[in-house]
Parts: sequence; structure tokens; C-alpha cells
Amino acid sequence: MSDRADAVVIGAGVIGSAVALELARGGRSVIVVDKGPAAGTGSTSSSASIIRFSYSTIDSVLAAWEAAAMWHDWAGHLGTVDPDGMARFVRTGMCIFHTPGNGIERVEQLWDDVGIAYEQCDTDRLRTLLPGVDLGAYFPPKRIDDPAFAEEATSELTAIFEPESGFIDDPMLAARNLAYTAKQHGADFRFHQEVVSIDRAHGRVAGVTLASGASIEAPVVVNVGGPHSGLINRMAGVAEGMRIGHRPLRQEVFTVEAPIGLRLEDGMPATADLDIGQYLRPQIGGTWLVGGTEPECDELHWVDDPDHFDEYPTVEQFEITMMRVARRVPEFGVPHRPVGLAALYDVADDWVPFYDKSDLPGFFMACGTSGNQFKNAPLAGQFMKAIIDAESAGGDHDAVPVQFVGARTGRTIDLGAFSRRREKAITSGTVMG
Ligand SMILES: Cc1cc2nc3c(=O)[nH]c(=O)nc-3n(C[C@H](O)[C@H](O)[C@H](O)COP(=O)(O)OP(=O)(O)OC[C@H]3O[C@@H](n4cnc5c(N)ncnc54)[C@H](O)[C@@H]3O)c2cc1C
Repeated sequence: MSDRADAVVIGAGVIGSAVALELARGGRSVIVVDKGPAAGTGSTSSSASIIRFSYSTIDSVLAAWEAAAMWHDWAGHLGTVDPDGMARFVRTGMCIFHTPGNGIERVEQLWDDVGIAYEQCDTDRLRTLLPGVDLGAYFPPKRIDDPAFAEEATSELTAIFEPESGFIDDPMLAARNLAYTAKQHGADFRFHQEVVSIDRAHGRVAGVTLASGASIEAPVVVNVGGPHSGLINRMAGVAEGMRIGHRPLRQEVFTVEAPIGLRLEDGMPATADLDIGQYLRPQIGGTWLVGGTEPECDELHWVDDPDHFDEYPTVEQFEITMMRVARRVPEFGVPHRPVGLAALYDVADDWVPFYDKSDLPGFFMACGTSGNQFKNAPLAGQFMKAIIDAESAGGDHDAVPVQFVGARTGRTIDLGAFSRRREKAITSGTVMG
């Protein structure tokens, strides 16, 4: 049995659903196939969904700043209201502590350039912004079996505070909102359908074949498979044409209880704390999320097969994280056993995503999202449409990269910055991008 569409999107995560929405809004017939049970049930469901603007390159800062405007007016961006509920942006602001070599001067230059307001905070100002927080500087982050872990602080922290950061209260609901709207524009979402091969004819992509044996013919196929996207690129035979690689990285995120006074409702901002190697953000309901920033002392857990990895947090990582957090915020209630999750990032070698074509005409990719692209999902849908439109009109995005003009700033974002053939970007080399 064979179906036809103008475009097949592989993956109904927050980015796949955004790609489907923009292609359908643009008038294409779209079929989305996902091996999972519903939109957003892949890595999107585990996202900390932080919206921030602290990236190392101008195109990444502009992208995050542009996308934030879409989250601020979510119903306006979608052009509809999902009757099952709407994801919501919660503004917290974010403190980024100054730590040796964290590149914050570069971020400040980029923010000055884009017009993103921020405040320099000395330790006294931080005491007001972050009550209950120990502002000792302990850099570099350490393992708890390192004898230096218990050493006294060497000095006190300073930071920059950016007031517009925040988070999306329900990342899976955001994906469902995008999928709902894409369906309103005619997109057809098919769940429990696994793509097992990428079909070719006459030197270009011809569609996909599913595990059921059915196939879907399409002149455009977009790989938005999240942590599985490397497998899908290999399936399509396009991995060799990429200068930058990408692969799944296992991550653990924990939840801690915050006492009254240190909660979201008390105005506590999120923190990027490279001094202890953790990021923290308050969430609705009196808890905080705590994730890692890949400090040098922590081993990275690369995963070969994204279908087989340990989805439960480990006692070892829980203990390290909680000891670090207890030092920073002594009043947090540490649970007796791990409360959290383990999930996968799809990490590009330079921690910058791919929004790109491939060496197989008609086959595109939105992947390598490196644990930091939830925030850009609605814009990524527009990036992909712009690239696909340009290629369909006979352009060559490799030779003449598509230039995307952001609605918020009127500034041009060079989509060549997200090319699979780019020179490795100079970034923090961590989830901070
Ligand atoms: C723990 C964690 C914390 C994060 N925190 C943040 C954050 O604070 N801020 C931020 O901006 N970003 C964050 N991210 C990153 C962000 O969540 C991801 O970049 C984003 O959700 C990826 O969306 P996606 O649609 O590309 O992939 P996914 O949501 O993973 O969707 C991919 C889909 O493809 C499907 N699929 C895979 N293979 C096949 C196949 N062969 N056939 C059919 N379907 C297939 C899967 O079932 C899945 O539903 C975080 C990620 C994680 C894991």
C-alpha cells in the first residue's frame, strides 16, 4: 500500500510538529510519522524547556530572541487555541554566574548588539535576587570524592541577570498545540509508525517505508527524529556528507523541594551555575529542576542505541548533584532517593543544531539539537520551511545559504550557521551552546 504527500516529517516532537505546521500552513500536504504514541512523547517530554538567550554565536542569540516572541504570544503564533489546553511561558529571569572561561563577555557583546537588556550584579545585589543562596565561589566544579570538594569558597560570586528568560510550563503540551494546529491546516499525524528506510529514485528522495511494510511517496522528507536522527541520517545515506557529527548523550535531571520563600511564586530566578556545574530553575508547585552543564569532571555518557538506555536516574549522579545543590542552596529539601529522569540529547560536535538540507536532494534535517533547542522550536519550523522552499524553487542552500529575517528584530539570521557542512562553531562546548 502506498500513500502520497508533498512532504513527510519523521518525528512529532516539538520541532517536528513545528516543521509540520509551517509546511502545512504554506500549502503543502504533510504526513507526520512517529513511532511513539502521541506528539511530544520523545525527548521533548523530558525537556526542562528553559527559554534563555545566552549563546556564543550571533545567529543562535538572534534565534532564541526571535523564538521567545512566539512563546510570549503563543495563541497568536499558532493562530488558534487548542481546546485541550495551551502551553504557557512563565517568566523567571536568569542569573548567569561569572566563572573563569565561561565566555560571558562574548554573551554580553551579543546581547548589546541585539538589544537584550541585562543587569550586572555584584554579590550584594545577588543576595536580594537569590535569598537563601550561598554565593561562595567554588570553581571548578568537583566530584564529591575529590578531597577539594569540601574546601571553603575562594571568593564570592557575581553574575549577570537577564529578566526575560523563563520556561514553558508543559513541553509536551507545546508539541501537542503545534500538532493540533498543523492538523487544522490539513497535516496528517500517524502514530505507532516507524520509518525503517528512506526511499530513493532518480538520485533523489522518493519517500519512506514503514515497519508495517507500507510506504509513503513524497518529494520532501524531513528528519526530525530527535536522538534517533543520527540513525535516520545513516538510513538515508547522508551522514558521510556531514562535516559535523551528532550522537545521543544521556542526561539526568532531578527535582528538589524548595521551602516557602525560595519558590517560583517568591520570584526566584533560574540560574546557570557553571561554578558548581549545574543549572537550576524553579517550577510550578514548589519544586526546582536541576540539570548538569557538563563540567569537565563529569563523565559524558554517550549512547550507541537510543532505543536501549537506562531511563532511570542513577544513585551516583543523584548524590553528586544533590551535594552540589545542597552547598549552593542549603535550605533545599533533598529527597531520600532519586526523584528525576534520564533522557537523551542529540548532541552535535559543536553543540549547535542542524537546520539544513542533505546531500540527498529532497531529504532535509532538523536535528543535533544539543539539549538547547526546545526554545527555538516554533522558529525552527519556519527555518525549515524557508530552506525547503528555497531548494524547491531551484536554489542551493549549500552554495547560497538562506537568509531569514526575524519578525521581532528585523535582523537577518544566516541559516548557513546551522549547516551540516559548517566549520565547527566556537561555543561553550556544553548544553549552554
Ligand atoms: C533532559 C532534557 C532537558 C532539556 N532542556 C532544555 C531546555 O531547558 N531548553 C531548551 O531549549 N531545550 C532543552 N532540551 C532540548 C529540547 O527538549 C530538544 O531539543 C527538543 O525537545 C527536541 O525536539 P525534537 O522534536 O527534535 O525531538 P523529539 O522530541 O525527541 O522527537 C523525535 C520524535 O521522533 C520519533 N522517531 C524517532 N525515530 C523514528 C522513526 N524511525 N520513525 C518514526 N518516528 C521516529 C520519536 O518517537 C520522537 O517522538 C532538553 C532536552 C532534554 C532531553
